[in-house]
Amino acid sequence: MINLKDFTLDQIKDLLDRLGEPPYRAIQLARWLFQRGCLSWDEMSDLPKDLRARLKEFTHLQGLTIVQKRVSHRGDTIKYLFGLADGQAVESVFMRHLYGRSACISTQVGCRMGCRFCASTIGGLIRNLSPGEMYDQVLAMQSDVGERISHVVLMGSGEPLDNFDHTMVFLEHLTAPYGLHIGYRHITLSTCGVVPGILKLARRRLPLTLAVSLHAPNDELRNRLVPINRRHPLEELIPACQEYTKLTGRRITFEYALLSGVNDSSRCALQLTRLVRGLLCHINLIPANPVTGRDFSRTPPARVHRFKKILEKAGLSVTVRRELGSDIDAACGQLRRRVIALNG
Ligand code: SF4
Repeated sequence: MINLKDFTLDQIKDLLDRLGEPPYRAIQLARWLFQRGCLSWDEMSDLPKDLRARLKEFTHLQGLTIVQKRVSHRGDTIKYLFGLADGQAVESVFMRHLYGRSACISTQVGCRMGCRFCASTIGGLIRNLSPGEMYDQVLAMQSDVGERISHVVLMGSGEPLDNFDHTMVFLEHLTAPYGLHIGYRHITLSTCGVVPGILKLARRRLPLTLAVSLHAPNDELRNRLVPINRRHPLEELIPACQEYTKLTGRRITFEYALLSGVNDSSRCALQLTRLVRGLLCHINLIPANPVTGRDFSRTPPARVHRFKKILEKAGLSVTVRRELGSDIDAACGQLRRRVIALNG
């Protein structure tokens, strides 16, 4: 059975054309699918009954099932483990901020990038998510909490640029007037540094925020923490980021997870200032959540402060990420692994 949310709008138009329907039907159908998140053919009252009956024969509207849900003590973060049709599961996180509601979604089941501090990659890549499976994470959270999602972050399990085409179809629907109509400026795509993907994305000139997981200011350390660096070292990554800012006019966000005794020294901070000098960027320091199965610990607050001061003194724009939901395994990949472990 086909999930129509995996199709582009043009593909939906082609399909309906082959069924003898006029072009405007595609927008009507797309609104039911992508805006209202409709899960029943019976509700699609403005579509002819016989069209619905024909579509029902070879497509499905099935959404995701909630396998597990955890609400943080403060109630501002909800972590979901969603079941997919083939029995796999992915994680998504809903967050309430002062500026709106955000959804952090996964783009792959597992991940093959091997970042050392990340739980999602421990079992490797299982498979790519389809565009519809990405979209359904947003719809499922929106419908469960009954609140409109205003921001989307592609920062759950998986490397979005390793699943480039599906991610682009997902973004097309997410931003479209027939979909949730979320502006690109409210979307953040996170990458560990897949340079060809960054360049390909730059050429699309989408005004989204690109977040690059840097985590180390030199190749020696980055090779250990973010193994993709061995294939695309900093001397390739930084020019690719420059190209991205040039083509899109958008500032890059560098994510830097502070790991105690590993990458949080004053020397690292100074190296970082030299590495990004002259680049249109913002640095987001993340006091990392402890990950079961990974032997890293969190940088103490005083050292976070010292690191931040050094960057600020060099004129860089820096924030320390607000900690959300560390009591509910909100770091990517942790909930899925815990459930897999529990189930045997
Ligand atoms: S941090 Fe992201 S890219 Fe790196 S292994 Fe984890 S999911 Fe993959």
